[in-house]
Amino acid sequence: MEEVTIVGAGPAGLACAKGLADRGIKPLVLHKDWFGQKACGDLVEEEWFGHPVFPYLTPRAVERNFDRFTINFYGRNFARKGRWVSIDRGEFERALCEEAKRRGAKFRLERVARIRRKGKTFLINDRIETKFLVGADGADSVVRSFLGQEIEKAFAIRGYVKGDRESPTLYVDRGIIEGGYAWIFPKRKLLNVGVVGRRVEEVKRGWRKFTRGMEVRDAKGSFVPCSLPCKTEFENAILVGDAAGQINPLSFAGINLSLLCGSLAAEAIASSRSYEGLWRKEVYRRLRIFHLKGKIFWGSLMKQKWAGHLLRWFF
Ligand SMILES: Cc1cc2nc3c(=O)[nH]c(=O)nc-3n(C[C@H](O)[C@H](O)[C@H](O)COP(=O)(O)OP(=O)(O)OC[C@H]3O[C@@H](n4cnc5c(N)ncnc54)[C@H](O)[C@@H]3O)c2cc1C
Repeated sequence: MEEVTIVGAGPAGLACAKGLADRGIKPLVLHKDWFGQKACGDLVEEEWFGHPVFPYLTPRAVERNFDRFTINFYGRNFARKGRWVSIDRGEFERALCEEAKRRGAKFRLERVARIRRKGKTFLINDRIETKFLVGADGADSVVRSFLGQEIEKAFAIRGYVKGDRESPTLYVDRGIIEGGYAWIFPKRKLLNVGVVGRRVEEVKRGWRKFTRGMEVRDAKGSFVPCSLPCKTEFENAILVGDAAGQINPLSFAGINLSLLCGSLAAEAIASSRSYEGLWRKEVYRRLRIFHLKGKIFWGSLMKQKWAGHLLRWFF
């Protein structure tokens, strides 16, 4: 019988596994993909409202550092100061896994297809019995479906092209995508290019327009939450990261938040405190503000070409 089983080894599941292992609880982590497989823009903020990302990053996982960010609004550039890091996602996840393993966490490459309740415990894939279940299995979470929760989802595609740029850039232009944006984020040797928006077909069309003439490698699409989080705490079970909808609904960035909520999940499980209470106290007010800003910006303001000077109120 497992004490805690975490489904998913992305940023949320890994932060939770590490946090539990640090506190002497040795979770079993089940994940269906090898590390670094998730489609991602690979860009994180160095610090998200007082929560630094560096404790989760080894030097090898950091590809580039940036001190500004550009938003290209219908062809006009608006710079934003701040600190961002481009990461090697495979390296970042592998290093966190190794650290959690050294402290006693167990990892197994296994897809979770079936979960059921067995008295007060859970039975996963008809074989693995666990007292506590953590759903950290991303935007298409099977644990969230099992717990009867729903979230709204957007869609994003990313790929890699050769080239170099000085700073990460977002492209806001209805000619590319409605209600979303395209991006070019520089990495050590390549550029990460992508498009995100509400509807799959529109994103695919925007992707074709944006990458016309580029030699794109490894193009991949995935869903990304875009609503406020669902209920995240149940009897002996919780949801973390994309599985819970814990993402910035304005920028669709979720790595910083997944790491933070994964660590809070570990703290809550180890101390029998309310997980929902912990993460809501830390971030819910901010998420509501981002949600409102997202509705205003992507719903109407992005259509107004004169609105460039208002960007600083949103991003
Ligand atoms: C194209 C794209 C670009 C993005 N760019 C950025 C960005 O630049 N910066 C940023 O901050 N955020 C970005 N995001 C969002 C970010 O990727 C997510 O918010 C973040 O990865 C969420 O982490 P997570 O651990 O909750 O889930 P995930 O990273 O999705 O990890 C889910 C884990 O669950 C496992 N899993 C899933 N289903 C099962 C199953 N049935 N059985 C077992 N295991 C399972 C997977 O193997 C994986 O280990 C982007 C998203 C997309 C789609």
